[in-house]
Parts: sequence; structure tokens; C-alpha cells
Amino acid sequence: MTWLILLIGTLLACGDKDGDDTGATGADGLQTQSLGSFTTDTGGLTGDIPLEVPDAASSVLVHCGDYGYDVLGTAWQIKDAAGANYYTNSFHDEYAPTKMRVGNLDDYLPVLFPVSPDHDVTGGAWTFNAWIASGGTPKTIDCAVVYRTDAVSDAATVDLNVVFVGVDGLGLDAGTAPDDADFQAALDFAQGLWADAGLSIGAVNYIDFTGNVDRFAVVDVSDDDSSELGELLKEDVGGSVRGMTVFFVQEIASSSGATIIGLAAGPPGAATVTGTSKSGMVVTTADLRAAPDQVGLILAHEGAHFLGLFHTSEKTGEQHDPLSDTPECGPDSNTDGNSYLDREECAGKGSDNVMFWAPDTASTTMTGDQGWVLRRNPAVR
Ligand SMILES: [Zn+2]
Repeated sequence: MTWLILLIGTLLACGDKDGDDTGATGADGLQTQSLGSFTTDTGGLTGDIPLEVPDAASSVLVHCGDYGYDVLGTAWQIKDAAGANYYTNSFHDEYAPTKMRVGNLDDYLPVLFPVSPDHDVTGGAWTFNAWIASGGTPKTIDCAVVYRTDAVSDAATVDLNVVFVGVDGLGLDAGTAPDDADFQAALDFAQGLWADAGLSIGAVNYIDFTGNVDRFAVVDVSDDDSSELGELLKEDVGGSVRGMTVFFVQEIASSSGATIIGLAAGPPGAATVTGTSKSGMVVTTADLRAAPDQVGLILAHEGAHFLGLFHTSEKTGEQHDPLSDTPECGPDSNTDGNSYLDREECAGKGSDNVMFWAPDTASTTMTGDQGWVLRRNPAVR
């Protein structure tokens, strides 16, 4: 779970499974395939799962679950068509750093690659081994894969399914949103932020949430329980399967007292896969009337997480994205002695990037490598 948090006026961020069509080439440029059901060993590993990566694949999304909100899953080892380690977990005997990151994710595990132009994929027989850290208790999970096989555009688009969850108090629903100046300003601001990345918004599907509005209009999360978020993201709302689903809610409430303004599944999200706890993102509308650009920033930032981008620099500066052309701000820049990197401390070192860990509306840049990743996501055309 990635959190974008508003704290005392300062943005301190972030904190029907698909794939039953075996091997069929989708006319829409995606191939989805069920990989089967796997029971983890006492170490939590699925063992090597074979992948037949098509020569035309520009991106690969393996996804496995579900295994519960009290368990974290991640990738253990990915071997490429030459049998070489493409990715190894840092606990693996053969660990070596590569231009790839995988999160530790509760309940459902999407793993996307490539996430850097320095670490592209080639077609052939790969293997994927997942690690479901359930404390020695075997977990049985279903895995599937999405291969994107159509050409990657320099001027790419992503469809949005915008879903309104109990925000009619703002006068906002599927009927009014197309003509709501603030909502459209938010979409425009998000699109402007993605412009450097060669990505724009395609079709926008306006949808009124028909599920349990009373439960989900305010999404409650805490540091160790994101089940309410996950249960909302599981809701199948219709719209474009090849697109991103964004739930606009009244508020995201957290036990820590911080105000969270956006949450994305992952990174990455389960792009083009519906019905999982990683199948979308949530954005709060609390600031929509006062600061539509702020809502647009959250949409652009969380959407980019969903599509595979990490923060240029994480909160403490000890971890960065796997991209070569994004600025890094390290722990040495933390000059005021608090526990996190401020935008001021990271001036000229990435605080102006949309994917800085704590962006504001002046964080408006994206790099070529970030665009390379975004444009080849399976949800993008
Ligand atoms: Zn973030």
C-alpha cells in the first residue's frame, strides 16, 4: 500500500481473477494466461512457475493471490530466457541488485516487469517464484499472467474508470462530473503532469458506485490493516478493463491521525485485472472545491504508482527508484535532523518530480525513463 499523506498542511507522502484464457492472443494487444494453483512450501515459496514470454512482449504482469491481509507476499526469484537471474530477493543466496524493485504486498501480489529501460525483457521461457511470508503455514494461491504484445506508443493514453462513492454532498456524481469545473480541472492538472511522460488520459468512464456506500465513502486504514481499502478495490465497477479504476471517496481515515489523501494498490497495481485487492486506487475529494490541482496531483502520483513507478527517493533517502535518469536525494541531504527528507532539502534533487515521496503541486516534472515505464504498462495503449 502506498500512502500519500497530508499532515499539518504539508504533504508527507506515501505512506473474478483474470486470466483464464490460456495462451489466446487478445485482439486488444494483451495475452492473458492462467498459470495454475500453487501451494507454498514451509519457507513460503511457490517454486519455479514457468512463463512463456512472447517475443513481442513489452511488459509482463504476473499476479498471484489471494493470501489474506495479515500476510505479505513478494517475488523471490525471476529467471530470464537465458536462465540468468533477472531479479532476486535481497534474502536470496544469489541476491544481486538489478534495475527492478518489488514491494511487499498484503493479500494479492502483482509483479510488473520491466520497470526500467536498463532492464528490458526478451521473449522465451522464464520462471517466476513467489514468496508468501505466512510464517510456515502453507498458502494456496492462484497465479496468472498478462503479456502486453501491441506496440508501445510515444503518445500513449490510459482510460480512466472514475467511480463516485458517496460524494454527492459535493454535488458530484456520474451525471454531474463531466460538467463539474473543479473535477475537470483536477483531471486536466493530472494530464498536464503526465505530459512529460508522453501519457494522456483517454476515455473517461463516469460511474456511480452501487456497492456499500455507507461502508466505503470513508475508507478506514491503519498501518497494519488495509483490508477496507482492499475490499473496495475488489469491487468490479465495469468500465474499461484496459484502464485504471479510481474511486473518489469522501475521506480516507487513518488510525495514526494523519490525513491520507490518496492510496494506490502496489506499486504496481494489478493492471487490467479486476476483482483483486490491487485492482485500483482511491483518491479523497475532501480538497476538491478548495484545491482541485491538489486532487489532480494525487491522481497523477497514485496513478503512476499503479502503472509501475516508485518514488524517486523514499522518505529517508535510503531507497530510490530503479531508473537512471531520475534525481536522487540521499540521507546526507537531511540537514534538519528530523526523520524524513523535506522538499527544501531535496531542491534540485528530485523534489520537483511528480514521484518525489512528498510531492506538492510544484512537483511537475517527469523523466524519459519514467515515461518509458508508464507507456508500456498493460493498462495503457
Ligand atoms: Zn507515493
